[in-house]
Amino acid sequence: MIELVSTPGAAAPKVGFVSLGCPKALTDSELILTQLSAEGYQTSKTFAGADLVIVNTCGFIDDAVRESLDTIGEALAENGKVIVTGCLGARTGDDGDNLVRKMHPSVLAVTGPHATHEVMAAVHLHLPKPHDPFVDLVPAQGIKLTPRHYAYLKISEGCNHRCTFCIIPSMRGDLVSRPIGDVLTEARKLFEAGVKELLVVSQDTSAYGVDMQYRTGFWDGKPVKTRMLDLVRSLGELAKGYGAWVRLHYVYPYPHVDDIIPLMAEGLCLPYLDVPLQHSHPDVLRRMKRPASGEKNLERIARWRELCPEIVVRSTFIAGFPGETEAEFQHLLDFVQEAQIDRAGCFAFSPVQGAAANALANPVPEAVREERRARFMAVAEAVSSEKLRKRVGAIMQVLVDSAPGMGKKGGVGRSYADAPEIDGLVRLLPPEKISKTLKVGEFTKARIVAAEGHDLLAVPF
Ligand code: SF4
Repeated sequence: MIELVSTPGAAAPKVGFVSLGCPKALTDSELILTQLSAEGYQTSKTFAGADLVIVNTCGFIDDAVRESLDTIGEALAENGKVIVTGCLGARTGDDGDNLVRKMHPSVLAVTGPHATHEVMAAVHLHLPKPHDPFVDLVPAQGIKLTPRHYAYLKISEGCNHRCTFCIIPSMRGDLVSRPIGDVLTEARKLFEAGVKELLVVSQDTSAYGVDMQYRTGFWDGKPVKTRMLDLVRSLGELAKGYGAWVRLHYVYPYPHVDDIIPLMAEGLCLPYLDVPLQHSHPDVLRRMKRPASGEKNLERIARWRELCPEIVVRSTFIAGFPGETEAEFQHLLDFVQEAQIDRAGCFAFSPVQGAAANALANPVPEAVREERRARFMAVAEAVSSEKLRKRVGAIMQVLVDSAPGMGKKGGVGRSYADAPEIDGLVRLLPPEKISKTLKVGEFTKARIVAAEGHDLLAVPF
């Protein structure tokens, strides 16, 4: 349960809010919470204390569906007035009926993801807004669910691809890019509010602006094209003025991504790329219908490393995709080693209801899928650990995420190589100098003294 800024006045209607799912769902939650706050609604910490509850759901994998349905059930039992939004809201069951309505017929309204207006319309219907909106109490950057020093910036919604294992396009629709002026204005507000790390998210960051034919927009009185290169350069220049980081997620390895790498070498954005490759073997990629599946990823990554040697590549993979042979899987293991993927995650293929991949020939038995996932992780972790060990002795810039004991006792932070929530950490020992203190949301230099699992150990100075 997430608490909004508290607003004075005993009579303000109270909304309970549960946000589940990925960073894209989180940004949807932030938009709804911002609008609720702008209209004078308060939030409640408990279901029972709320006049109505909104549940933002995730519908991607079976565990997430179960968690979302359980949360809706809990909210109905404890409160009774529940509005459901998010990816699960867009899903249908085998009979074509809406899944949430089928499981929980008493919910007040169900919407899909990215539906602030529909959610607010349902709120207004069941819990009229107060007469005196506390507009002035809403911070300019909106309501953020992340710590104050980092924030996700969503640049587009939906996806033009049709990967066979994924049902996101059927839930979120085709790609719709946000106007570049809006994106940059939001970024500036976030930096002004103290954000030190901006995480750019979307379903396909490299495709930004395709739907608008890379239209020229305006920002700060200057023309700027709605495309990835211009966006990253503008964000980087803006971030520089605030001493902040820009980190790119969900980047597909299209040829034009090569143009972004020099910006990393120049220090305009972090030399970090989250590239969801999913597999390496061309036949598996074809069966997956992956974007950029014809690209030569090994050569591409080698070229990136030539242009910017410190680049960190994070990726996710699927083991045991239907039809995957042992030889194709071995190709993937070799790829992870050759490409020296710094951070890799792996899922055993899981048939998501409604995904085209479920009908593909030669499904891999579950035990083999799991066994391959474990083998993959052993290889990937060995690559990653070796790369971390090479950092011992280096001096790195670390963004402090927590600093108990007034910052004298050390803390926890992250370097450019670690995105929040998904990568490792830099565990900070007490500072070298007695006069130095660590502060959450500030940068410190630190000397790396050891590598432990996914993390580094460092002495700040
Ligand atoms: S690129 Fe593929 S996996 Fe990613 S959202 Fe689009 S269809 Fe889904």
